[in-house]
Amino acid sequence: MANKIIVAIDGFSSCGKSTIAKQLAVRLGYNYIDSGAMYRAITLYFLRNGVNYNDHDQVVAALADIHISFVFNEQAKASDIYLNDEDVSLPIRDMLVADKVSQVAAIKEVRTFAVAQQQRLGNKKGIVMDGRDIGSVVFPDAELKIFMIADPAVRVMRRFKEMYATNPHITIDEVRHNLELRDYIDSTREESPLKQAEDAILLDNSSMSREEQLEKVIGWVKERSMANAQI
Ligand code: C5P
Repeated sequence: MANKIIVAIDGFSSCGKSTIAKQLAVRLGYNYIDSGAMYRAITLYFLRNGVNYNDHDQVVAALADIHISFVFNEQAKASDIYLNDEDVSLPIRDMLVADKVSQVAAIKEVRTFAVAQQQRLGNKKGIVMDGRDIGSVVFPDAELKIFMIADPAVRVMRRFKEMYATNPHITIDEVRHNLELRDYIDSTREESPLKQAEDAILLDNSSMSREEQLEKVIGWVKERSMANAQI
């Protein structure tokens, strides 16, 4: 396939962004970066260290002590996320983190910190990144931008099944409440709210199989990387 490009995938929580992003990266030999995992890792640090995220000085001091890195895991065919040299891929999925992450991600200093690192990771192209502001703020010039949506009931069940695998005490109501709250905070916050970039392609995957979805997106990548090669 012609030139390597940047693929930006945004959308509401649990629309299946990371599933398609991971599959795409494996198929294309690209790097996959889960930007939400960075906000979750920062939130985990704040929770563990009792950082009051309404206190600007405490937030700034905490960010100075946070180092986040991604290490490719051959078995999972995706990267594990490290917070100050500890693999936090599992604890960041906890409901305690999910409950607070959108409030932490709404803080300006937190976004500046995370976005700078995301942009550095993308400077070599050949990257698929998913999140809320990837096409609108992190990579406004990405060659392919996708905005994913899915039926809310489908999203709740997907996330419930995923969380139930590690936490059999979780209830559907808890998951629904968490998704509704995060969607609300993410789309109404002042700093880079979740919204569809004007040049993003809308993908509704409520009733699509994973294979159908992947083939559709691969088609778009081919088109965009050819167009990029001709410029
Ligand atoms: O993608 P995931 O659901 O794991 O993201 C967790 C949270 O991180 C989101 O609900 C949102 O508050 C925040 N986030 C963000 N910008 C991104 C990615 C995630 O604000 N690019």
